[in-house]
Amino acid sequence: MAEVLVFADHDGETVKKVTGELLTLARRFGEPAAVWLGPGAEGGRARLAEFGAAKVYVAGDDGIGDHVAAPAAAVLAELTGRVSPAAVLLAATGEGKEIAGRLAVKTGSGVLTDVVDLVPGDDGPVAEQSIFGGAIIVKSRVRTGTPIVAVRPNAVAPEPAPGAAEIERVAAELSDSDKAARVSERVVQERSERPELTEAAIVVSGGRGVGGAENFALIEKLADSLGAAVGASRAATDAGWYPHQFQVGQTGKTVSPQLYLAVGISGAIQHRAGMQTSKTIMVINKDPEAPIFELADFGVVGDLFTVVPQLIDEIGKRGGS
Ligand SMILES: Cc1cc2nc3c(=O)[nH]c(=O)nc-3n(C[C@H](O)[C@H](O)[C@H](O)COP(=O)(O)OP(=O)(O)OC[C@H]3O[C@@H](n4cnc5c(N)ncnc54)[C@H](O)[C@@H]3O)c2cc1C
Repeated sequence: MAEVLVFADHDGETVKKVTGELLTLARRFGEPAAVWLGPGAEGGRARLAEFGAAKVYVAGDDGIGDHVAAPAAAVLAELTGRVSPAAVLLAATGEGKEIAGRLAVKTGSGVLTDVVDLVPGDDGPVAEQSIFGGAIIVKSRVRTGTPIVAVRPNAVAPEPAPGAAEIERVAAELSDSDKAARVSERVVQERSERPELTEAAIVVSGGRGVGGAENFALIEKLADSLGAAVGASRAATDAGWYPHQFQVGQTGKTVSPQLYLAVGISGAIQHRAGMQTSKTIMVINKDPEAPIFELADFGVVGDLFTVVPQLIDEIGKRGGS
């Protein structure tokens, strides 16, 4: 059975959830083999095994991670030439997409990004992409070389399946240009207890309707009662009510959680572009004509300052976090 290479997204200790999702997808097309760049593979191995990685290719435990995307593309290109995988899967993050593009150039292959599903077809994997702000679903496949596919986090549910996760070290042959850009400093971002926005299973977002920075405490309280991440519309971030890194939409983050709660958000096309592929969408808005209701699986027409506290109470009664 052909291998499917999965580029492991990790921070040197923890394997990101998206890697479990990619390994789950990879099992549809062959034998998943994770590719781990930098130190920490021994620690991440159990997690990779849990989602079916038969092998873990490890490269550059001695500092390769200090260079940006190019070395990852070089290692993946070398492996692609050697094992002729059925596909190479990466997370559709900024870094993942850059690696995917470089890998495509190096191997003369086609690349698909921002993929939300990948299924077997007669002539190889068929990808689903959601474009024009989610207004159109496109199905496409790579016709040249090895399919290189960057998949959005949270696009598929990770399903465990045992794998041996045997570690195989790979010598990383890097050219001078691969090493041209170097990470000179790392600053650890202050992290809240909340899940990371693009990885969270539940996202609660607040918009202009929230009415001010101080009222975002209510959005945070609702998010915490559900173990969710907090997001915001651009109107809210531009007003300085919530930091820009939490903006959801065309010029912010793309999220695709199991549940997206839009509170006091009207549903402009630019906001939809970042959340439209969420599995279930719930809306709280006092205007029944707000366009966001077109997307909603569940909607509450009402004042958020009345509805949200009741929702928090009810979640509490049902044993929310
Ligand atoms: C190039 C470009 C890029 C953009 N990128 C993004 C992006 O990435 N993300 C993004 O979000 N926007 C983006 N925008 C902005 C976008 O067009 C909208 O202006 C923005 O999304 C509106 O935010 P909002 O829904 O919070 O505010 P509004 O459109 O003002 O909607 C507020 C909603 O809150 C409701 N409301 C008010 N008070 C209450 C209450 N008490 N209880 C319940 N409901 C209430 C109102 O009925 C209304 O529907 C972009 C725009 C441009 C031009």
